[in-house]
Amino acid sequence: MSTTHERPHHVVVVGGGFGGLQAVRELRTLPVSITLIDRRSFHLFQPLVYQVATGMLGAGEIAAPLRTIFKQDANVRVLLGEVSGFDLERRRVQVERLPNGDPCHEVPYDTLIVAAGSCYSYFGHDDWRSVAPDVKSLESALVVRRRILTAFEAAEIEQDRERRTEWLTFVVVGAGPTGVELAGQIAEMAKRTLHEEFREVDTRRARVVIVELADRVLPGFPPPLSEKARRALERLGVETFVGHRVVDVDEDGVQVTSPDHAPEAIRARTVMWSAGVEASDLARALAEASGAGPDRGGRVPVGPDLTLRGHPEVVALGDMALVHDAQGRPQPLPGLAPVALQEGRYAARQVANRLHGSTTPPFRYRDKGSLATIGRAKAVADFHRVRLSGLPAWLAWLLVHLFYLIGMQNRLLVLTRWMFSYLTRSGGARLITGSEVSPAAHRPALTVPK
Ligand SMILES: Cc1cc2nc3c(=O)[nH]c(=O)nc-3n(C[C@H](O)[C@H](O)[C@H](O)COP(=O)(O)OP(=O)(O)OC[C@H]3O[C@@H](n4cnc5c(N)ncnc54)[C@H](O)[C@@H]3O)c2cc1C
Repeated sequence: MSTTHERPHHVVVVGGGFGGLQAVRELRTLPVSITLIDRRSFHLFQPLVYQVATGMLGAGEIAAPLRTIFKQDANVRVLLGEVSGFDLERRRVQVERLPNGDPCHEVPYDTLIVAAGSCYSYFGHDDWRSVAPDVKSLESALVVRRRILTAFEAAEIEQDRERRTEWLTFVVVGAGPTGVELAGQIAEMAKRTLHEEFREVDTRRARVVIVELADRVLPGFPPPLSEKARRALERLGVETFVGHRVVDVDEDGVQVTSPDHAPEAIRARTVMWSAGVEASDLARALAEASGAGPDRGGRVPVGPDLTLRGHPEVVALGDMALVHDAQGRPQPLPGLAPVALQEGRYAARQVANRLHGSTTPPFRYRDKGSLATIGRAKAVADFHRVRLSGLPAWLAWLLVHLFYLIGMQNRLLVLTRWMFSYLTRSGGARLITGSEVSPAAHRPALTVPK
């Protein structure tokens, strides 16, 4: 990496999520110019997207415009557009879907940091995506919110008993932290909040089912905490179908097979997806451009210093990267925000060291633990030496999430919302917006049970 440029060293960062944003925040104090490219104009705090999907928080409370975050930093330029590829030899990033309609734009770089994240995988069944939206992006969270709230409205006017039951059945596929949080929140809303607002339907009779292929909920947590989470879910009335494989999803609901391979149909009009993750397409593009194959999850292999093989000027990090040690052995890290944050910080330190002509020791992840909330004042926390559940875990969850939320205004708004809903059991943003109608609403009449 040369320091003899007449112009300042130019770092291009792709992705303003956890990893990319952290890299830019650390880089902005260096004598470099930075271009941050994202297809969204905002940084999204993904751990709270499910709260938008359930109407607990508004969309603006968990997102912050990238331009606002860097308004004081004259050396940071934000570019809205979708990165479609890389020319590693010419050191160019190709950007499409530009806001002015230009078909393509090339951005040159001296150092490239790519942190484009991941998306949910439907295990080769992309046709399930429209029936069972995920809660990864703000857009899909708003679709989920609309479907959940519309389902209660539909149940309110539905005269047919079976159809009403289907409207009141909610299936969440995947019992990782997001699935558990989503299921817990829907149950809480149905049982404790909405029943005072509806006249014809008793929302407390809503059925919330969470389906998980592993043999327990929160499979990434220690078994005792999984067990506590399962009990907390079941106290909220959530049915946990662990060891069950989803074999079909359509407008009628979900078809699963039990651990002993018995098929079962869960008839439901609202299905949500929070299972399986695969890396951004940009991981494959980078892997191919560098001549290395992506792994099974589509992640691009990077060395112990997070750089691409044969390209020390290109760093990939966060959910899309698979770190290898000096011997070339994969060192998989969890797809979590702290990994991306620490890698973003490391990438910036590496740029600083190279500008000074010094080297950086290999990246080491410091695992501080994991948290998942299950409903009002309930959570589990695994800090390795200390394991918490119930209220103390929930308070820890609350503090950690507030700490990492970008923007003081968002922190205050979210804290106020949480306190208000904790005291009143109400959700502040339960609005049905947009015109999309759930695919289940188009189903004319009951079909023959599967
Ligand atoms: C619903 C949900 C809940 C989660 N909860 C937790 C939690 O509680 N705790 C935790 O630690 N982790 C949680 N995670 C995981 C955590 O959010 C991710 O590990 C983290 O966001 C990864 O950071 P990243 O920088 O790799 O990618 P991201 O934060 O996903 O950022 C990727 C960025 O790249 C942009 N981008 C993607 N493709 C392109 C392109 N082609 N062109 C331009 N820009 C592009 C995106 O718009 C985005 O801004 C959760 C994830 C989800 C989806």
